[in-house]
Amino acid sequence: MAKSAPPVKKNEIIELHFEDITHEGAGVGKVNGFPLFVPYALPGEKAKVKVINVKKNFGFGKLIETLHVSEERVVPPCNVYYKCGGCQLQHMSYKMQLEMKQNQVKNALKKIGHIEGIPIHETIGMEDPWRYRNKVQIPVGAKDGNLITGFYRKRSHDIIEDMERCIITDEVNDRMVDAVRETADRLGISAYNEENHQGVLRHIMVRSGKVTNETMIVIVTRKEKVPELKQLIKEITNTYPEVKSIVQNINAEKTNVILGKKTKLLWGTEYIYDEIGEVRFAISAKSFYQVNPLQTKKLYDKAMEYAALTGNETVIDAYCGIGTISLFLAKKAKKVYGVEVVPEAISDAKANAKLNGIENAEFFVGQAEKVMPWWKAQGLNPDVIVVDPPRKGCDEQFLQAMIEMKPDRIVYVSCNPSTLARDLRFLEDGGYDTKEVQPVDMFPQTTHCEAVVRIERRVQ
Ligand code: SAH
Repeated sequence: MAKSAPPVKKNEIIELHFEDITHEGAGVGKVNGFPLFVPYALPGEKAKVKVINVKKNFGFGKLIETLHVSEERVVPPCNVYYKCGGCQLQHMSYKMQLEMKQNQVKNALKKIGHIEGIPIHETIGMEDPWRYRNKVQIPVGAKDGNLITGFYRKRSHDIIEDMERCIITDEVNDRMVDAVRETADRLGISAYNEENHQGVLRHIMVRSGKVTNETMIVIVTRKEKVPELKQLIKEITNTYPEVKSIVQNINAEKTNVILGKKTKLLWGTEYIYDEIGEVRFAISAKSFYQVNPLQTKKLYDKAMEYAALTGNETVIDAYCGIGTISLFLAKKAKKVYGVEVVPEAISDAKANAKLNGIENAEFFVGQAEKVMPWWKAQGLNPDVIVVDPPRKGCDEQFLQAMIEMKPDRIVYVSCNPSTLARDLRFLEDGGYDTKEVQPVDMFPQTTHCEAVVRIERRVQ
């Protein structure tokens, strides 16, 4: 990097050619080697850009006019795409989105993990990359005395007023949000006001089972007593037979966190059900559940293929959540041990094992990095370890314990290529080879990037 002053100044208007893209989806163009990041610009494009922020080694710009348009640029189908910020890639063809995610994994492995020359497959995408989310949580506000619902504008808490639908969410969720908002409005239920901490209705959350079509509505209110809710339930349940559960969540705090501590069943069942492959899941208002079950199935099928189970193996599923992967594994293994730090998730995992008649899976609450060394001391010798950590990746203590347990195979499911690459380097240095990587697009139109990796113990 040149030590001289940056070649651009704030507010300057320049022409820029874009060569690359960041993992946040911004175009990257260089002025004498000095990189500028410009949201919504695509590689291969040339554009008029206003410089808006200049740091020592890089800067940010705003796209003013595209002078040469990439063939991969598409018109975003959502009318509030540029205001919302929930999606970042709607201006890019789906083909390019999939390539971008594959390259992101490739680059991270090369630059951070120093791993090259192994197959990093093409991203497995969706046939129809829209309407895939099974859950929506939408803020409620007021305008001219009426209730409105919509996501917040980027970097603000102003509700986008003209957001009529969210086209990455299941259609039924949109319909339910409209139904609850319209009914609540008619019944005179007020919107929560963040500024003065008054009003009632804070959020409407809807979850639906892709396979079962069962729907749960969660109404988040500031206070518990809302007499009109009785009438609201009556109207909704009379009109929509797919609604199986209506839950009230009470959140009396001044907070950005959507759900409060207290949950109360108002109507129907406490759980709705959904299925991924042959496994059935019970989902409560607060349960974690994968938001894109179609792609989750593809991801876990790959993980299963990489685990190469024959029925005789002992398997550890670390960071197991509600046991989604564990239950898949259990069908093909001798025994599965799951570990997860959130106690409620482990209760769900145990309940889901029971629901599926699975008796060879055991679940433990704890930090994976603490439980692994303890398991090792108990003489647990897994043949295969599957890990699915959060964005920050695995703890070193955990990776070390895993290496010392000497499993033949490790399957790493990752939602962050950078920490994945870092952890793969640690495993490589500990005697494991990264064999192949399969990116899977779990969140089309967004920059989230998921991948599953096959790792094997090096034959000495
Ligand atoms: N495979 C899971 C989801 C994994 S998401 C499923 O489909 O349900 C990552 C999980 O790691 C989260 O559930 C999170 O609570 C858990 N987690 C985070 N830090 C952890 C730690 N140190 N030890 C064990 N689990 C942890």
